[in-house]
Amino acid sequence: MKKLLYNRCLRCNRKLKSLKAQQRGYGEHCWKEHLKEKQEKNSLFSISVLSNSK
Ligand SMILES: [Zn+2]
Repeated sequence: MKKLLYNRCLRCNRKLKSLKAQQRGYGEHCWKEHLKEKQEKNSLFSISVLSNSK
């Protein structure tokens, strides 16, 4: 099976140069931002779970 490669960044729509970036769909900078957002969402989620269990 062929791996899906992205030509452009999913976040800023810039052209992706490296194979690594093409595989994940984000440029180096946007990938870091994406991970940060993911972490923030996860921590918000665990906070809401904690407050719901009261
Ligand atoms: Zn980008």
